[in-house]
Amino acid sequence: MNKLRSAMHKGKRVGLEMVKKGTAKRKKSETAVKEEDTKNDSAPSTYHTFPDPADVVLLRSHLLNWYDKEKRELPWRTLAVTESDLNIRTYAVWVSEIMLQQTQVATVIDYYNKWMKRWPTVQDLAAATLEEVNQMWAGLGYYSRGKRLHEGSQKVVSELKGQMPHTVDSLLKQLPGVGRYTAAAIGSISLGQVTGAVDGNVIRVLCRLRAIGADSTSPPVTEALWSLVNKLVDPERPGDFNQAMMELGARVCTPKGPLCSQCPVQTHCRSYSKVHAKQEKKSQKLLGKLDRKPSTLPDIEECVNSGTCPLCPSEPWDDKLGVQNFPRKPAKKPPRVERTLTCVVLRTGEDGEDEYLLTQRPNKGLLAGLWEFPSLLLDDKSSEVKHKRALCAEISTLVGINLSESNFKCVGEVVHIFSHIHQTYVVHSLSLKDRDTQTPTESTQWLTKSALQEAAVSTGVKKVFILFTQCVCVCVRVCVCGLDNSTCCTRNRLDYLTQKAQQKALATRRCFLSSPISHYRFVLQFWKGAPWLKIL
Ligand code: SF4
Ligand code: ZN
Repeated sequence: MNKLRSAMHKGKRVGLEMVKKGTAKRKKSETAVKEEDTKNDSAPSTYHTFPDPADVVLLRSHLLNWYDKEKRELPWRTLAVTESDLNIRTYAVWVSEIMLQQTQVATVIDYYNKWMKRWPTVQDLAAATLEEVNQMWAGLGYYSRGKRLHEGSQKVVSELKGQMPHTVDSLLKQLPGVGRYTAAAIGSISLGQVTGAVDGNVIRVLCRLRAIGADSTSPPVTEALWSLVNKLVDPERPGDFNQAMMELGARVCTPKGPLCSQCPVQTHCRSYSKVHAKQEKKSQKLLGKLDRKPSTLPDIEECVNSGTCPLCPSEPWDDKLGVQNFPRKPAKKPPRVERTLTCVVLRTGEDGEDEYLLTQRPNKGLLAGLWEFPSLLLDDKSSEVKHKRALCAEISTLVGINLSESNFKCVGEVVHIFSHIHQTYVVHSLSLKDRDTQTPTESTQWLTKSALQEAAVSTGVKKVFILFTQCVCVCVRVCVCGLDNSTCCTRNRLDYLTQKAQQKALATRRCFLSSPISHYRFVLQFWKGAPWLKIL
């Protein structure tokens, strides 16, 4: 392991040297920019920066000491330390950074481990099919990320001789789906390049540290944050520094309920001192009323350019929010509301097992290339009948059988929230008696239940399927009226219908009537007609 570590550090140093060489010119021009900045009237007030180099050194050491003690052991962190091969290390960090975009660490761990086990190198990933990648990604959301990783790996193999880009600039230019933050994170973590990285967590920490309250997505704030973090980043441990900032944002300086009392950089935090000073002033005022002593507290430090400053908040300070006055985000647009008609089409397979019809989504756009039950986006609610007819015609073409809408059975509705869409699936089902359906085309396939659960389908489709199977399996657990058997007509009816089939149904968790759907409808009719019935 020691050998490995020293090799790895060597590797990192090489990376660092490469950057130093590569950025010699840039450094020169950066110095020039700094000189110009001092003359520039629009340079941010020192209230929002770290003007004292001693402060910067202290902050780095406070943060890194905390990180060394408190950091979570995560598979990609372990790989970034133990993997001596620069190419594999860069690939491993790239995969983790893409998976972590918009997704929680806890969710990513499992996916990451499975991914790295299956495709441990960029060459392995390049040799996989997009279908396999989508299948592996299923459930992680934002599916274009997996597709871009796959495209990127193929580019590395075919155009870069299998070598991952080794600088922040080339990562940014060469890899699809890699933006400014991701390139900086990969460059600093896997290659030891001295660059800061600004993600959502870092935005929050920096805005609070330097009381930056203007819209955190505005260009002046974005540039100010990048320049701040590039000044703060530790030249010896850039990757650890960036991860420490993110870790701090994720675990201490959280969006709601930040743990300021446990924060390693509290002494550097302008928001904290502002809140603290306000509280002190308040209590002194109260005491002052009693003993009429003049306040010994200095005025709360503020931005000298306040009023014209592009980094100061435009909204007034809210005492109730405390440090959460920072950062400020523009009001979120409400998600688009959509309704989609979807139909679970099933038939009995050769071995008697049910099979479900799935169609593939187009290669571009939302959920690109994933599989779903035949579906149709509804224009508006009133168009449901018209769309049902259209979907029925589409399914008829797919299976090569003339079907009518009366074959559709209503199952229910499922809501799935995407980041920008509030999607309601209006679920129907259709049971084909005849197995003699058309052979699947490239974009259609029949899958068994277990194959469907493994397939490249979205979480929304999984929810639809769960609703469908739950409806099938409600069985006899429906009547909770409390009446005895002779009085409760529903229970009598159920008993009458299910006497023999019931045991089989409970044993197999499959419907005990002639078809799952007829059973469901039966239950649903009773359920709707009798409020004292419910599906458990
Ligand atoms: Fe965040 Fe509080 Fe730490 Fe400031 S003191 S950085 S607000 S946790
Ligand atoms: Zn200001």
